[in-house]
Amino acid sequence: MADEILIKPDLQFVKRIMAAGGQDAKKCYQCDTCSVVCNLSPETSPFPRKEMLQAQWGLKEVVKSPDIWLCHQCSDCTVYCPRGAKPGEVLAVLRQMCIEEYAFPPMLARMVGDYRFLPLLIALPVVLLLLALKITGRLAIPEGDIVFSKMFPWYTIDIIFLGAAGFALFVFAQGVRRYWKDLNTSPWKVRLKGSLISHLIPTLVDIIKHDRFKKCETTFARSINHLMVFFGFVFLGLVTAWAFLKEWVFHQPGPYFIFSPIKLLAMVGTALLLYGIYQIIVARQANADKAGYGTYFDWQLIYVIVAVGVTGLGSWLFRLLGIKILAYPTYFLHLASVFFLFFYAPYTKLAHLVYRTVAMLYARMADRGF
Ligand code: SF4
Ligand code: SF4
Repeated sequence: MADEILIKPDLQFVKRIMAAGGQDAKKCYQCDTCSVVCNLSPETSPFPRKEMLQAQWGLKEVVKSPDIWLCHQCSDCTVYCPRGAKPGEVLAVLRQMCIEEYAFPPMLARMVGDYRFLPLLIALPVVLLLLALKITGRLAIPEGDIVFSKMFPWYTIDIIFLGAAGFALFVFAQGVRRYWKDLNTSPWKVRLKGSLISHLIPTLVDIIKHDRFKKCETTFARSINHLMVFFGFVFLGLVTAWAFLKEWVFHQPGPYFIFSPIKLLAMVGTALLLYGIYQIIVARQANADKAGYGTYFDWQLIYVIVAVGVTGLGSWLFRLLGIKILAYPTYFLHLASVFFLFFYAPYTKLAHLVYRTVAMLYARMADRGF
């Protein structure tokens, strides 16, 4: 006879799932249609039916399951669910809770996931940047040609943004360490095969090519749109690293010639970012009825990316047009939105980049259908 399993439901956990956007989880009657239609679900112990049961029963351990990250929220399951339980959305909420579980401090993660704290979260970079202007005596619009380093010298930018990036990396490192430990001690623990490095490379190739994402049917276009945003970020990341090298190693700080390679790469990156995110918004609106509208957590990241792209493009255009009164404030907003993106990355949906990579690596090592 099988061993008895003691189940400890957590009603608060169920309430939190429902409040965060998984209010339809209770409608599930375990027909398993979702697991059958999901093209990403492995044959053994498939998702998302079992996660729906765990969510309904308040089994909190589900947020530690690597399977919730193997889902790419393509919504095929949501379209076919006969009960309208929206399993794709429920898994998205569980991923948000996983991010909250491993982020430090947890309270900041809760605040980021709650729209009521948004003004406070925005206030942090705004106040910090205003303080930097005050300390350096640059609160007024600078005289003469528009040169953004007159407002924020490069060393000020580097101190603020290296600090923000360092903080985010530290929080991520802590989260990944705890997550990996839990994966290897939780009920999902399996015998892993091969070395970490030998599996990490194909995992990264899979992510870069969006191979699994492309298996989605209902929202197939999302894989292309997501790819554009992804490469937009990669290009802009390269531009930042390039500018950093020019400044600190070659002592050639900007502004750069409009057709210089660094500017051209920045333009391509911004165009990909903005066009990709625009298409994501359009597709989400168009598929809202069948695939679900998405949660506050989803939309928050979308709007932060829009803010980064629009203010980046706007400050560049206003500078070219010589409209000082708009160029400097737009640049200020650009810096505030980039700070928001970096500093809060371990708590926002952007953290999926890290936790999904870890879960996919684990799944590959555990031979979960890769
Ligand atoms: S979520 Fe829907 S499709 Fe999946 S098991 Fe429940 S009722 Fe069936
Ligand atoms: S949203 Fe897509 S990937 Fe996720 S469980 Fe549903 S069908 Fe599978």
